[in-house]
Amino acid sequence: MEDLFELDKKHFIHPTSSIIQQQTDGAKSIMAKGDGIYVTDTNNKEYIDAVSSLWNVNIGHGRTELAEVASEQMKKLAFSSAFSTFSHEPAIRLAKKISELTPQGLNAVFFTSGGSESNDSAVKLSRHYWKIQNKASKRKIISLKRGYHGVAAASTSITGIPEFWDMAGHLMNDFLHAETPYRSTTEKAIESLQSMIEQETADTIAAIFVEPVQGAGGVLIPPADYLEAVREICDFYNILFIADEVITGFGRTGTMFGMENWNVVPDAMTFAKGVTSGYIPMGGVVVSDHIHTVLKEKSKGTLFHGFTYSGHPTAAAVALKNIEIIEKESLVTNAKERGLELQNGFQKIKKESSIVGEVRAIGLIGAIELMQDSATGQPFTPDVGVTPAVINALHERGVISRGVTYDGSNILCFAPPLIITKQEVNELISRISDAILFVQHQLGVSQNY
Ligand code: PMP
Repeated sequence: MEDLFELDKKHFIHPTSSIIQQQTDGAKSIMAKGDGIYVTDTNNKEYIDAVSSLWNVNIGHGRTELAEVASEQMKKLAFSSAFSTFSHEPAIRLAKKISELTPQGLNAVFFTSGGSESNDSAVKLSRHYWKIQNKASKRKIISLKRGYHGVAAASTSITGIPEFWDMAGHLMNDFLHAETPYRSTTEKAIESLQSMIEQETADTIAAIFVEPVQGAGGVLIPPADYLEAVREICDFYNILFIADEVITGFGRTGTMFGMENWNVVPDAMTFAKGVTSGYIPMGGVVVSDHIHTVLKEKSKGTLFHGFTYSGHPTAAAVALKNIEIIEKESLVTNAKERGLELQNGFQKIKKESSIVGEVRAIGLIGAIELMQDSATGQPFTPDVGVTPAVINALHERGVISRGVTYDGSNILCFAPPLIITKQEVNELISRISDAILFVQHQLGVSQNY
């Protein structure tokens, strides 16, 4: 048999990966199968998929119900266009279902194939919304530093991590980044947002994009009153509030959508990942009745924005079955309850280890921040490589996780599938604890190992 690792090096350019690491060390694991919270690689090593692959496999691996639905739909009507007002039942039913699940007043859906397309669509739709009301000057987009919104044209620039802009150019015009409330207060973050709006003037600003919980930035949970304050700012200055629910949607934070934790209703939400639990690509933008009314009443005719796969029938059928499973198996409640156990486990690890600083979680998304000295808050210097060391120790112990080292932070992120059981949470915590204490010992800062 041909060596898959060699073929990988030769032919596969990986997304958001170190090409140098791939070429020198080879792929970290070549995954072969999945079942529940576990994935197994080609060497038959089993791992807890502690980030639900890319924060998306919400209902866990190996759910044959989704495969069956996809197969049925493909046999019946694999694809049909939704352009030029053609339509089909799976997309109609999914749009209705999503309208029922999203907060009141958000009832019309534009479909895409993923998060980046959703955010690019939301940028264009928000500018279009102002343009057809004779306010074409309102086109600037504000988002937050450390935010992640994708890698398509606009979503790269909404993202608040400069490495993504620099990869092939620079930040596009008309995109601005305000302070995130991470390690700060609502007051300071709102002050930064407000002074930006005052400086640019509100008549140039179309929308503010915020993740309810910043995921790729390091699982940054906002202070209790932050999102409400953003809502007030948007109302005051007549700016659209767009919540990026790509990670937080469909149960991840212990509520169906992340914004519900703060009782704040945005003007639009973008979603992807959890809508199909990653079994097939799908995403979208759900907009408020007000935006929908403006589109209906002020439109000049054709909406010149659409992807071939907007509302793909097979993806829509899979999404409907996925949502049915989330509801039938009470996975949102499970996320909340197991999330509390995950948090307690993190607290226990913090007590055991001198290199664990802050720990946090909301539902089944959480983080452990590593520090040289948690008592004084002294950070690790980048040369220590503490995060990759723990990620590797976790990999050896059969846990797939994700590290964030951006801007000097050392954050371990966790977001296991929403089907995780109490016993599996305990097993995960025990492996994380063992990996962290092992690295702490290796670094010679151990008192407890
Ligand atoms: N928004 C958020 C909050 C995300 O986490 C991601 C992906 N990690 C995206 C948008 C982009 O989604 P995709 O990779 O499906 O384009």
